[in-house]
Amino acid sequence: MAIIKNVNAKKSLGQNFLIDSNVIQKIYDSLDVNPNDLIIEIGPGMGSLTTKLKEKKANLICYEIDNDLKIYLNNLEDAKTKIIYQDILKSNIKDDIKNIKYDKLYIVGNLPYYITTAIIKYLINSNLNIFTMLFMVQDEVADRFTAKPKCKDYSSITLFLNYYFNVSKLFSVSKKCFKPIPKVESAIIKFIQRDNKPNINKEEYFKLINDSFKMKRKTLKNNLINYDFNKIKEVLYKYNFDENVRAEELNEKVFVDIVNNLK
Ligand code: SAM
Repeated sequence: MAIIKNVNAKKSLGQNFLIDSNVIQKIYDSLDVNPNDLIIEIGPGMGSLTTKLKEKKANLICYEIDNDLKIYLNNLEDAKTKIIYQDILKSNIKDDIKNIKYDKLYIVGNLPYYITTAIIKYLINSNLNIFTMLFMVQDEVADRFTAKPKCKDYSSITLFLNYYFNVSKLFSVSKKCFKPIPKVESAIIKFIQRDNKPNINKEEYFKLINDSFKMKRKTLKNNLINYDFNKIKEVLYKYNFDENVRAEELNEKVFVDIVNNLK
């Protein structure tokens, strides 16, 4: 069922508004939020998801870059709901939520696709102790974030995100559920905080995975020419890989062993 009739969308801000109440309900049902929790919504747009999220009765802080949407959003504000008109990438979330008492932090949004990865990295690097994130993203981005080793979509961003969260694709969303209709299909992905993160030096690990996937066609050895490859080889042999292996064949456990063996 379409719930928004006339839309004046700004393409440059990734404005494709969700107009399907079934999808909104499914997003709502995928969130086990309690009234003592805090939800941050990114890009509330015309407020279709925001209105539904308010039913959770949790504290709700929304970041919207487009001041022109105030006419739709202003009347959603109340004691527990606040809209901040700001670029999420320039926000200081820690500061904005410092006076709110809450149990768990949820971050939700039908993201502007032109900056999906930038937003997720920004949130992770903000050190917020995020319990769960639930985002609408481009379908192929969802595949990249949830890819398994040996798949073409498996890359350093997969390993980066999966270090912090258990990431899963919940369901696909047809382009017909938006107005205006986007060019791409979409999907809902959920990130649940991991409590069994590998015990490693994060910076060294992220540098290793970035370097390992630098040139996808190259072997691991050719991507890691500045590393002590004899030490890497020891780990590869332990897992029955030969030295011409490519990064996309190695799972997190192997990369963790490599980074620890390089010390
Ligand atoms: N949540 C609404 C919905 O589902 O209909 C709108 C989703 S629309 C795909 C993305 C929203 O993000 C738009 O409202 C857009 O103005 C907003 N947006 C784009 N860039 C942003 C940024 N850097 N910071 C905050 N909001 C942004």
